Amino acid sequence: SSQATRYDPAKEIFALQPDFADDVKAADFPDAILRYRNDRAAAGVGLDSLTDDEWISHFGRFEPLPGTLRQPLALRYHGHQFRTYNPDIGDGRGFLFAQLRDDRGRLLDLGTKGSGQTPYSRFGDGRLTLKGGVREILATEMLEALGVTTSRTLSIIETGEALERNDEPSPTRAAVMVRLSHSHIRIGSFQRAAYFDDKALLERLTNYALVKLYEEEPGNCPPAQLLGRVVERTADLAASYMVAGFVHGVLNSDNINVTGESFDYGPWRFTPLWQPGFTAAYFDHSGLYAFGRQAEAIHWDVAQLAVSLRPLVEAEPLIEQLERFPQLYGDAMARRFCWRLGVQPSDDASAMVEAAVRGMAGGEMPIDRFFHDWRGGESREGADYSGEPWAAFREAIAGFGASGDDKHPYWQDAAPCSMHIDEVEQIWSAIAERGDWGPLHAKVAAVRRMGEALGPPPLLIS
Ligand code: AMP
Ligand code: MG
Ligand code: MG
Repeated sequence: SSQATRYDPAKEIFALQPDFADDVKAADFPDAILRYRNDRAAAGVGLDSLTDDEWISHFGRFEPLPGTLRQPLALRYHGHQFRTYNPDIGDGRGFLFAQLRDDRGRLLDLGTKGSGQTPYSRFGDGRLTLKGGVREILATEMLEALGVTTSRTLSIIETGEALERNDEPSPTRAAVMVRLSHSHIRIGSFQRAAYFDDKALLERLTNYALVKLYEEEPGNCPPAQLLGRVVERTADLAASYMVAGFVHGVLNSDNINVTGESFDYGPWRFTPLWQPGFTAAYFDHSGLYAFGRQAEAIHWDVAQLAVSLRPLVEAEPLIEQLERFPQLYGDAMARRFCWRLGVQPSDDASAMVEAAVRGMAGGEMPIDRFFHDWRGGESREGADYSGEPWAAFREAIAGFGASGDDKHPYWQDAAPCSMHIDEVEQIWSAIAERGDWGPLHAKVAAVRRMGEALGPPPLLIS
């Protein structure tokens, strides 16, 4: 277990009060059955040495962790949902349970999902389905392996409650999740402060994000400084989704963390083929958050952060930062695409990426198969790379040197590792119909093996 420093409640999140969060309590659940503990993530914050009983008391019954918050906090926020402003949201089924520093000294939040009703539940029950929890494990593990900076699923505890849901066989089982995340401050947190014209809260949020999350001294224009960091991180986030073949599904401004860390996994899917129109959420009728529109959606959300910061500063320095997004996104696409291919990035990378995308788009080549086969710049057996689009890609990639990672035995021995909806449903069926958690654990292990073979992704800003 690593030596993680416990959070001092006097110094951190309370600097944001008043008017940032409300004291709340967890629901009194009938049961607490430990279903998943992520000891790899727990080790980074010194929690892996907890016994199962201790784990359940903290993450199922919400006994405070020593040295951190004594009382859970439901965070207040607003947000644009499918481009319509909603001032009636906030932590409606979750709360901030604790803050800890990890082994790198970063301030991390333990946040819940499904922990009960809060002042922001509206007509909701404050609950999470066990299936939703299992899906969040799979999404976060796959994204982490594919180099996406994401929240991590720390714990899933089944609560013994039965839930009525429209989109699933009813009733369905309930669970409470704990996620480990680099902040839960969203673009929507700033939008709410701006909505109430609360300049003091906007200043506190800006200062907190710069000092506590980005670990920077505020300079002569803190709002533009913060916006610049958010632009950098979210441009990289958008590129990382594309290179992972991931569709988040609900890129509302309340689901965009100001650290640029991906989080809040609802109707997500991985697209099997490179189809820009592929949509994850059944209720996304216009395809607003389709695979190929995610960069545009995230950039739009970041523009709402800029609008929210306007009470503090003129438009010009904010616009200057916003306009950096497309170039940063293109750079991140090139770097991350090369990383997943296992080739050295070069000045020609953008042209190579375009050729590869043209080769995949409209064809039958699965994204995971493509990256797996071309690891090291050389086609392996099992898929057809003949034909005109692939000739263009071969030509474009010819001058790229292998990064060296392709020598990893994984690429010779393993089949491509994917996370498509059929397999996700099968993993859930094994749990729901047979009580068999084996397929979930096997999948997490397989995904982690791929992640180890890929190694860490390139950072956009080093
Ligand atoms: P999401 O789509 O998960 O990002 O949630 C949007 C808003 O709806 C947030 O304010 C959530 O807290 C709230 N919400 C979603 N599901 C529930 C639920 N079952 N009970 C209460 N609030 C919920
Ligand atoms: Mg949300
Ligand atoms: Mg959700």
